[in-house]
Amino acid sequence: MTPFASGDLLERLSSEVRECTLCALSQTRKNVVAGEGPRSPDIMFIGEAPGRHEDSVGKPFIGSAGRILDAALSKAGIDRSGVFITNVVKCRPPNNRRPTSQERLACRGHLERQMLILSPKIICILGSTAYHSLLGGKSIVADRGKIVKRDGIRFFLTVHPASVIYNKSLLTDLENDMLSLAAEVRDGRRLDKKTTTRRNRKQPPPRKIGSK
Ligand code: SF4
Repeated sequence: MTPFASGDLLERLSSEVRECTLCALSQTRKNVVAGEGPRSPDIMFIGEAPGRHEDSVGKPFIGSAGRILDAALSKAGIDRSGVFITNVVKCRPPNNRRPTSQERLACRGHLERQMLILSPKIICILGSTAYHSLLGGKSIVADRGKIVKRDGIRFFLTVHPASVIYNKSLLTDLENDMLSLAAEVRDGRRLDKKTTTRRNRKQPPPRKIGSK
């Protein structure tokens, strides 16, 4: 039997998620927002849930929070098209309320399969809902900027870009965290490169994070 490539697995999963009716959010959504990005990204971002714009179009982080994230990524030299972006739940909760624990649990399998297929170098958790859902964390503001290792996966913690809309002082935190995340990925690449250099002296020139 021919094994599936990661892109095939990701596309298969996205198709399944688009048909999902495992929780009540399937009854009120316009579109499922499975996630967006390349099949083997350096960084995978996980937020809370799609909002109104995302629900209308079926793409993640395209409203005001998305614009804040884009600007912070750009300042840090991270190419958005080279990272994978998704949420803890793939359907919009009515009135943008926080997804319930039952909804998060119902959607957990989709997220875990995405993490497994994508196998990113690092996962960036955006905000307290994702922090609590994935790591049982309490205060993202207190813990932001930290790296947590769990079950062999590295998680980077930062605030949700939407929180910047209500608390402007968090913008500097988000921007500084994206710079730290970019540095972390570059350091990881340097280590990879050192290992490769021992095997092969010919090296490609440095590239922007996210570019393949
Ligand atoms: S939120 Fe997740 S579990 Fe619920 S219907 Fe949407 S895809 Fe399925």
